[in-house]
Formats: sequence, structure tokens, C-alpha cells
Amino acid sequence: MIHLKSQREVDCLRASGDLVSRTLAEVARYIEPGVTTLELDRVAEAYIRRHGAEPAFKGYRMGDVPPFPGTLCTSINDVVVHGIPDQTRLREGDLVSIDGGVYLDGYFGDSAYTFAVGDLSAADGALCRTTLEALLMGTEQAVGGARIGQISAVIQYHCERAGYGIVRELAGHGIGRKLHEAPQIPNYGHPGLGRRLRMGMTFCIEPMINRGTPRVTTDEDSWTVRTADGAPSAHFEHMIAVTGDEPEVLTTFDYIDEVFQSNSLLQMVPHG
Ligand code: MG
Ligand code: MG
Repeated sequence: MIHLKSQREVDCLRASGDLVSRTLAEVARYIEPGVTTLELDRVAEAYIRRHGAEPAFKGYRMGDVPPFPGTLCTSINDVVVHGIPDQTRLREGDLVSIDGGVYLDGYFGDSAYTFAVGDLSAADGALCRTTLEALLMGTEQAVGGARIGQISAVIQYHCERAGYGIVRELAGHGIGRKLHEAPQIPNYGHPGLGRRLRMGMTFCIEPMINRGTPRVTTDEDSWTVRTADGAPSAHFEHMIAVTGDEPEVLTTFDYIDEVFQSNSLLQMVPHG
């Protein structure tokens, strides 16, 4: 069942979306060769708690799988999503998807961005750019009366035209008082199919796009999802509300863009 949100609930989700957007930008300040994903995780957790919220992913349960231990999902290169923060150090040329979740005043926020560590290869840069473009093209379809399939189809068309593999096993999702609600928003599909969007629907669109095969495997830790062929993968995620004739994006990458315009912001990562 899809829960349609009141204006007040959309306001709450907008606040959660803003906080998770600011959290990703805070993490962005520390992304450089040598930093560990666990250090990034601590930056995010401290930031979220300092702003009166809780990390949404920490302790998250999915079936009988052990609870997710991190505040962030940190997914490097061939890891598609759900990478667990650890002592792994980022290296020049890596791409790293940072997926953050917050729980603020009863409502969840969820957003992801794939960062370049130093300079990316041209091929990896193109993968990130195309995935981000696909997300933005998908968000443009999110208006009342449109079908979910229209979002799915534009993402699929844009990424497959570039020769990339679209992960089928994972999808975007409704969001609200629960982190994952109905409906699912697949990253592939037919424009004429799927539910029609209605006022008050709130959901995440999150293309997960591979440079090679669409197939994925899951590590023994039950979380880490990797490409089956070891090729890199990119992932971007926005939260959307259907509130009128224009799509309303509840998250923003503007704060991240601000970080990269300023080159004096890289600071020492606090330890402990
Ligand atoms: Mg996410
Ligand atoms: Mg999500």
C-alpha cells in the first residue's frame, strides 16, 4: 500500500532530505586518497547526531541478515551498494558511492552520490556523469499522472545507450515514516507500465549502473553487493515528492557542489 503524505509530512521529509544532503557534503570535505571509509562514517554519524537526528542505516535489518553496522554505505569501485565502512583507504582514481540515511523527527531522509577520489579515468568519469544524468532525467518524469514506468524507462534508455549494465535486483523505493515503503522504482521498464503517480507520493530514485555486466553478487557479509565481472559501478540517489505539476526534489547536491568550489575545505579527519 502506498502512503500518500500530507503537506505537513512532506515538510518533515523536506527537512530530512535537507539534512541528509548536508551530511553528504560534510563527508565530501574529507574524501581524498588515504582516508578510510570508517573515518568518513564517523564524520557522518557525528554530523547527523549534532543536528538532532539519528543515522537511519545503523542497525537496519533486512530479513535474517545481521544488522547493518554503519551510518553510511561506502561502496568503492566494483561495489555497487551497501559497502560496509571499514579500514579500507581510498586511493587515487577510486570512485566511491556514499549513501547516507537520517531519521529526523519521525521521518527518513536518504540520498547517495558517487565521488571521484582524485582524478578518475575517462571511462569511470563518463560512467558517473551518465548515471547522474539518468537520475536527473528520471526526476523530471516525477509529476502527478505520470507512470512509474516513465521514470524507469528514461533511466534505462540513457544508460543502456551508453553501453552500461543496469542492476535489476535493486530499485528505488517509497520513503516516509519507513525507510523503505511502496512503491518500488525500478531503473528499467516500459513507459506505459507501472502505477500512476499521485499527489503526496514520496520516493527515492536511485540508478545503480555498471560499466560492464548488469549482474551482481553479494559478499559473505550479506550486505556488500558487487558487480559480477569486477567492473566499476556508480550510484546516485534523490528523494522526490509529487506535489504539483513540477517534480519536487527533496534532496540536493548543491551543498556538495559548494564544497568542490572551495579548495581550502579539506581538513584533518578527527579520529576516535
Ligand atoms: Mg540510499
Ligand atoms: Mg534508497
